[in-house]
Amino acid sequence: MQNRLREIPSVDEILRREDIRQYISSYSRGFVTHSVRHVLGNMRRDIISGRKVDISKDNIQALINKYIRDMLEPSLKKIVNASGVILHTNLGRAVLSDEAVEAIKVSAAYPVNLELDLEGGKRGDRDSHVEGLICFLTGAEAATVVNNNAAAVLLALNTLGEGKEVIISRGELVEIGGSFRIPEVIQKSGCRLIEVGTTNRTHPADYAAAINPDTAVLLKAHTSNYKVIGFTSSVSLRDLAIIGKQHNIPVVEDLGSGSIMDLSVFGLPGEPVVKDSVEAGADVVTFSGDKLLGGPQSGIIIGRHEFIQRINKNPLKRALRVDKLTIAALEATFRLYLNSDTLKRRLPVLKFLLRPISDIEIIAKEASGLIRERLGKDYSVEVEDSESQIGSGSLPEEVIPTKVISIVHKKLPPEEIFEMFLKTNPPVLGRVHKGRFLLDMRMVEKAGDLFSGY
Ligand SMILES: *Cc1c(COP(=O)(O)O)cnc(C)c1O
Repeated sequence: MQNRLREIPSVDEILRREDIRQYISSYSRGFVTHSVRHVLGNMRRDIISGRKVDISKDNIQALINKYIRDMLEPSLKKIVNASGVILHTNLGRAVLSDEAVEAIKVSAAYPVNLELDLEGGKRGDRDSHVEGLICFLTGAEAATVVNNNAAAVLLALNTLGEGKEVIISRGELVEIGGSFRIPEVIQKSGCRLIEVGTTNRTHPADYAAAINPDTAVLLKAHTSNYKVIGFTSSVSLRDLAIIGKQHNIPVVEDLGSGSIMDLSVFGLPGEPVVKDSVEAGADVVTFSGDKLLGGPQSGIIIGRHEFIQRINKNPLKRALRVDKLTIAALEATFRLYLNSDTLKRRLPVLKFLLRPISDIEIIAKEASGLIRERLGKDYSVEVEDSESQIGSGSLPEEVIPTKVISIVHKKLPPEEIFEMFLKTNPPVLGRVHKGRFLLDMRMVEKAGDLFSGY
């Protein structure tokens, strides 16, 4: 091993090589030196841990080239979502509308009146740009915005219940993918969790019996990613609000995705509508900006004036607030909801959800032709019926009919085809389903998008 380690050339030696000197003429010497050290360091570590290492001049050069190329290329890339999941958390959830993108550009490129009241020139409030729209669209008295819905729940509970008790049904102790767990959020918000009822059945009397002078919040969490079926019973928000009023305890609802519009008017399965929660008597409601709403990552907190005011005065609000780009995109997104006729063309989430199957089929046929041509005769490439999902925990039981391209190879397992498509330019995310590799065309606008990087 010692001999192998000694065979590795020194950093200085490599820096004198012609190919490397070229890099130094284009980039800083410090960056190139760092790259060489990084590659040699990895080699040393591999040798020490007993791995086989090729320390030839060519291989070292290739590794340095790759490291430098990777550092120079954007790591965050445009990719094609052919996964069949419309709101894919790993792909950044909602794709924004043109209007939202335009608003972000202006906010990014110029100073904006983020916290400046143009009438009078006094200090303004960043929430003021969206609060009016949110209140109109949800029926709430007041609204504020934070970094995501997890932050919204944390901030609402911390404001209303720190050091006190939060009552929630055992049937609603949800975990959302990516480590959001209601019991842990309650604990981190400084509140004590009081569970009532059972996994499948909780009654109004269970809440009433648990209320005591230390109770600060009655919490309802939307069980967005699972269903309890069979012998079940839960307390409706409306009934919980009545209990809250009787005891003068605020009712907070974590709606998860929530929907501004009732999607059932489009024949889609309905996610709870935010306005209905306000109307049913919730004092505070939280939901995500980048799920069904179709906006940027954010958490919206709406509710009664006095509670939103207290939330805004909490020092944690400062730590969880959003930047001007988010406010800009959110404002533009909410504004689209003022016209429900144009909304379904302009809001990508809704456009994808409502895309006619005939449209998807045209793209699927055209794209399958292109793919067949590229892959050659060892692959079978067919258009088939399948199902898309909304994703991000929205309506997990509900699927929407779609058209997919199935790609099967005589010998290659589907997982390898999956990886092969991730290495194309742009990368294409498909899915492996029942032993086959599928590309869902619902979110692919043009067949050529699959190969737009070549
Ligand atoms: C998605 C979800 C969250 C977390 O929202 P983020 O915006 O991802 O932080 C919290 N609660 C419920 C019920 C959810 O569905």
